Parts: sequence; C-alpha cells; structure tokens
Amino acid sequence: MDDQPAPAGNAAESPPPTPEQPAAGEAGAPGAPPPADELGALPPADQPGLGEAEEPGLRPPADPSPRRSRGAVVAISLLAVALLLAVGFGAWLAVQFVQAQDRISEQERRISDQQDEIEHQKDLIDEKESFGAAMNALMGTAAKFDGALMATIVPWSDYQLLVDRAWAHRWEASKVEADTREAEADAAGLETLLTAAQQEAGSNATGTAYESTIDRLGGGFVRSVVDEQICTGSGDGILGCVYGSDPYLVHFDAGGNAEPYMNDELRTGIAYHEFAHVLQFTNPAATDAALPAFDGDWEVMADCFALTFLDGWTLDHRIWVSSYEYWDVNIGYGQVCSESQRQTVRDWYAGLGVAPRTLEVGGTPE
Ligand SMILES: [Zn+2]
Repeated sequence: MDDQPAPAGNAAESPPPTPEQPAAGEAGAPGAPPPADELGALPPADQPGLGEAEEPGLRPPADPSPRRSRGAVVAISLLAVALLLAVGFGAWLAVQFVQAQDRISEQERRISDQQDEIEHQKDLIDEKESFGAAMNALMGTAAKFDGALMATIVPWSDYQLLVDRAWAHRWEASKVEADTREAEADAAGLETLLTAAQQEAGSNATGTAYESTIDRLGGGFVRSVVDEQICTGSGDGILGCVYGSDPYLVHFDAGGNAEPYMNDELRTGIAYHEFAHVLQFTNPAATDAALPAFDGDWEVMADCFALTFLDGWTLDHRIWVSSYEYWDVNIGYGQVCSESQRQTVRDWYAGLGVAPRTLEVGGTPE
C-alpha cells in the first residue's frame, strides 16, 4: 500500500524484523487489529491507528459534537443580543424620530415666526421709505417759498413734530403710514398756497390801489378785501386792519375807501402800514426783537415801515378836492419815526422771511 502510514521510527535506523518477531502492526499479528486497508475501514478518527505515527500534527479532529452545541448556544446568545440590540436600536430610533419631529416642529414654528418678523420688518422698511420720500417731497415744496417774507407760512416746527412723531412710530408701520399721509397732505397744502399766490398776484379782485400794493409787497401770499365795518371794532376812522387769527388777509374799510379825500396815494400808504402788520404777525421772533425800538408800539412801528420804504410818504396830507377845497388828513398814529428807528425797520425787514431749516430725525440732523 502506497499510503500506508510509515511505521513508527525510521526504518533505516530500526533493526529489520525477524520472521519470528514480526514488526508490530504487521498483518496477521494475533491480537492486533487488521490493517486498515484489509478491514476496509479506517480506525476511528479520534483513535490513532495501530502502527500509525503519533505525530500530533496529523491527529484527526476531535469529535465536533460538543463544539456544535456550544456554538449553537453562542449563536443563540448572539442572536438574542442582536435582537435586543435591534429592538433597542429601533426604540432609540423611535425616540430620535419623535425628538426630531419635535425639533422640526419647533424649527418650523421659529421659521414661521422669523418669516412673520421679516414681513413686519419689510412693511416697516417700506413705510419708512415712503415717509422719507414724502418728507423729501415736502422739503422740496417748502424750498419754493424761499424769499417769501412771511416766516410762518412754512410751519417748520409742525414738520419737526411730524418727524419726531414718525420716529416714535418707527416700529409701527400703520402709524408711520398715517404720518406719511400727513406729510403728503402738508406738501399738498403748500402747493395750494403757491398756486393761490400766483393767482392772487396776477389779479386784482377789488380793483384798488390797496390790493395792487398788497399783491406787490406780499408776492400774492397776502389777500386783500374791502369790507364794511370789519375794522371798526378797533375804533371809528380805522381805514384798515389785520387780525392775528388770519394774518394773510388785510381788511380795508369800505367806508374809508369811499371818503371824498381818499386817493391812491393815501391807499398806497395805508396798504404799506397794514402790510407791516402782516409782517409783524408772521415774523414773531424778529418782531419781538425790533419792537423795543418803538417802545413796544406796533402802530408806530407800522407807520415807520411806510415812512421808511414808501418814497415821499408822510403822515399828514392836504388833499385838494377842487380848486378851492382841500382836506387835511392825518394817516397813522402821529409819531414820525427817527432815523435810528428807520434803520431798525430796515434791519428787521432784511431778516424776515422763510429760512431753510434742517429737520432732525431721532436727535440727529437729516
Ligand atoms: Zn395799524
């Protein structure tokens, strides 16, 4: 047999077997199991065959039965652990999912809140821009009054209050919108004044020297009327008057206008006097500074205005109504102003009128 295991030991080193003493493992030896090939079966795997080498490296594997049993236990344990892990992982995933859903809901709510806030901010920005544009338009219209002698015709303090109010409303779009409408209305009001002034300056409804004089001095911003008994409350013989409640309207007395001595020279001088009252009312700060030069007397100051700026004007007039009849007429309050007072009137007049103003927003100029 070619695959018969070699007998133990080295055949070359062992003494050759004798016929009487057959070598161990030789076929036919009594008591010894037959050679594997002769029995047609190998010895059990876990028992070395007789005559086989005892080399451990060639020992067949041990009986696997006990190992499979431990392996099954291990496998079952592993499966159980894996199942537990899977269940645990699933539970963890479920918790994570619920927590993620909560976070998503919270984030969605925050995003919604942020979007609402952004929309709110956009509305605010839009309204602030609208208000800024309306105020710029108002300032542009106000600039058209440059040169107008009546300082109060452009109510800067009202505009400053409007800006202050809009600043206080800067987080409330609806209120800023209302402020914008007010600015637009103010601009429209100024435009109306400009249009009316152009019409007033270009017409003479009363057809009198009163009105032509007032139109020329006032640039159309001051109206004239000839009416009955409006000024008599101040005393008889009053030829004209101006009320502080409406300083842009000069009343000329219809009775005085019909006097036989009345002429256009007198009407012109009377108009100068009344126009001085218009300027006094519409330039209160400058007037307060000038009045002490006239001992606080508005009428003396108004007479002085006519005496200073109307060439040839006097307070006493002799009016000839025929070749042999005349009227001696005294216009005014009987006090001819000094040169010093006239200079005061010149200085006062030179400083009158609409002065450009810078409105402040939030405490800073804009
Ligand atoms: Zn007067």
